[in-house]
Amino acid sequence: MAPTFDLAIIGAGPGGYVAAIRASQLGMNTAIIEREHLGGICLNWGCIPTKALLRTSDLYTAMRRASEFGLAADNVRFDLARVVERSRKVAEWLSNGIAYLMRKNKVTVIDGTASLKGNGAIAVTGKDGQRFPNVEAKHIIIATGARARTLPGLEPVVVDEWCRTGAPGLYAIGDVVGPPWLAHKASHEGVLCVEKIAGVEGVHPLNKTAIPACTYSSPQVASVGLTEEEARASGRELKIGRFPYSANGKAIALGETEGLVKTVFHAQSGALIGAHIFGAEATELIQGFVIAKTLETTEAELIAAIFPHPTLSEIMGESVLDAFGRALHI
Ligand SMILES: Cc1cc2nc3c(=O)[nH]c(=O)nc-3n(C[C@H](O)[C@H](O)[C@H](O)COP(=O)(O)OP(=O)(O)OC[C@H]3O[C@@H](n4cnc5c(N)ncnc54)[C@H](O)[C@@H]3O)c2cc1C
Repeated sequence: MAPTFDLAIIGAGPGGYVAAIRASQLGMNTAIIEREHLGGICLNWGCIPTKALLRTSDLYTAMRRASEFGLAADNVRFDLARVVERSRKVAEWLSNGIAYLMRKNKVTVIDGTASLKGNGAIAVTGKDGQRFPNVEAKHIIIATGARARTLPGLEPVVVDEWCRTGAPGLYAIGDVVGPPWLAHKASHEGVLCVEKIAGVEGVHPLNKTAIPACTYSSPQVASVGLTEEEARASGRELKIGRFPYSANGKAIALGETEGLVKTVFHAQSGALIGAHIFGAEATELIQGFVIAKTLETTEAELIAAIFPHPTLSEIMGESVLDAFGRALHI
């Protein structure tokens, strides 16, 4: 007899596995079908291993700047094979972590390639070509990523604000439903989709204006909301703040003086419309503005907030002050 679940998820990337955990928390009997590695592109090839490689690159750069900081590090070299080996180990460690989370949440993991058979049925083929019994589920979430072209009959997947495809009981989340192709967007869709299925009250659709975008260049770039150009195009009157890293004590101590924080406010209401950071740790700092935007903050709350000293976050506070003609350290 076909195993029957409340929810079956196809693809165990950051969209699928997070949806599975949330479904289990909400009491759903859940299965997840994955043809390669738990964690998907993000954890095995994308977000995580690339950051492990970047860490090596950052350390290498720092060592080459050693004399600037009163240190000596001569003849600094790298061993590419070991650099890659470390990044693979990090990915493997985290993929094993997802397997643990699936066990902990009693999610049934099925190792194979899924194809939809209609009426809540999914055919699964194992890695060596063996056929498993069909899986049946009241609800099915497609979380197959941007390389989902192998899923028959589904190109592209169009969904509404609750990730419903239009076919009863069939949903899609993550890269397969389109941009922005980001892991945190996929996970967020996974949670809201499952909560909507479970009938949780007060679920919000994805607020696209509050999705942070991060570029792990050197220096880093991160932003949330509209750019000044986009905001002006909408005809709004704006107040713009800018503050450079070069005027911040912590940035000078770190030797990271390149960059700035720019903030875009609605002139009349003081609503934070957008924030853009270019400089060291931009991808960590942006979360402060993401929270502010999600809470629909105005400049009044941001000016009242205390920024710890000495930190790079003070550049954010000063940028807000600058938008209203009140910057202190410039
Ligand atoms: C090099 C690189 C770096 C990146 N860096 C970042 C970053 O720093 N931050 C960020 O937010 N995003 C980053 N991304 C993007 C991020 O990886 C994706 O947005 C994210 O993985 C999408 O998640 P997903 O769950 O939709 O799909 P995926 O992670 O693609 O997972 C889909 C899973 O479905 C499985 N699958 C597909 N078809 C089937 C089937 N028929 N049956 C069973 N299983 C199936 C696949 O094997 C895969 O494991 C990066 C991407 C790349 C390539």
